[in-house]
Amino acid sequence: MKKILSLELASVMCIGLASCGTGTKTEENSGKTYVIYSDNSFAPFEYLDSTTNTYVGVDMDILAAVAKDQGFAYEVKNEGFDAAMGAVQSGQADGMIAGMTITDERKKTFDFSDGYFQDGQILVVAKDSKVASESDLSGQKVATKIGTMGTDYAESIKAEVGFETVNYEDSPTMYTAIENGTNAACFEDRSVVEWAIKNENLNLKTVGEVINPKEYGFAVKKGENAELIKMFNDGLKNIKASGEYDKILAKYGY
Ligand code: GLN
Repeated sequence: MKKILSLELASVMCIGLASCGTGTKTEENSGKTYVIYSDNSFAPFEYLDSTTNTYVGVDMDILAAVAKDQGFAYEVKNEGFDAAMGAVQSGQADGMIAGMTITDERKKTFDFSDGYFQDGQILVVAKDSKVASESDLSGQKVATKIGTMGTDYAESIKAEVGFETVNYEDSPTMYTAIENGTNAACFEDRSVVEWAIKNENLNLKTVGEVINPKEYGFAVKKGENAELIKMFNDGLKNIKASGEYDKILAKYGY
C-alpha cells in the first residue's frame, strides 16, 4: 500500500516535466524533484535554442535520458558555471551538469559520477593574432571565466609568462573580449570553442595542442545525494548499452 501511494505521488510530481520517465522507481527517489544547475552558455553541452526557447545540448540530453531511464524527476537551472558550483556547495542545488572537468582538487568538495566525455583546454586568440604560443602572451591581457579549468591554467603560467588576467562570467563575453581586442587570449575547452567558431562564425582561432585532457562528470556536494550519483552512473551505463548515448553525441556532431 505504501509503495503504491508513493508511486502515485511520483506520477503527480511528474506532470508537466518533460524529463519524467517510467523507469524503475525506488522508495528513496520517488516524489522528489531534484534541482540540477548548469552553465548558461556552453554549447554544445548546454545552450539556449532560440527557436524553442529551451536549453538543449549534450549535457541536457544525457541528463534527460538518464532521468528517464532511472525514473527520477528534476528541474534544470541554467545559471552559469561558477553559480552552479556555488549552488551545489550551498545546498541550493542537488547536483550539477555543466561540462565540468573531474579533478582531484574538486573531489575535495564534490562527488563525481563516472566520466561521460573527455576534453581539455586550448589557447584561443583572434583570427588575425600573431600569438603562436603561450610565451607570446607576455605583457598581454588574458580573459578568464571564473571557476574554470581554463582559469586555473592561465593562473598557473601567468607569473612565468608575465601576463595579466581579466575575469568574465561566461564563455560568450570572454570570446567577445578577444574578438574586439580588449583581451589577447583565453584558455577554453576545445570542443566548446571549436563549436562556437564553427557555428557562430567567431573571429577566433585555436593555437597549439589540447592541455590537460580529462573526463567531464555529473557532480553533487561531497558526501551528499549519493543516490543521485548512483542513478546517474546506472543510467549512463544503460544509455551507453542501448545506443542512446551515441545518438546524443551524434546529434551534436560527435
Ligand atoms: N571543463 C571546464 C571546467 O570544468 C569548463 C566548464 C565550463 O565552463 N562549463 O572548469
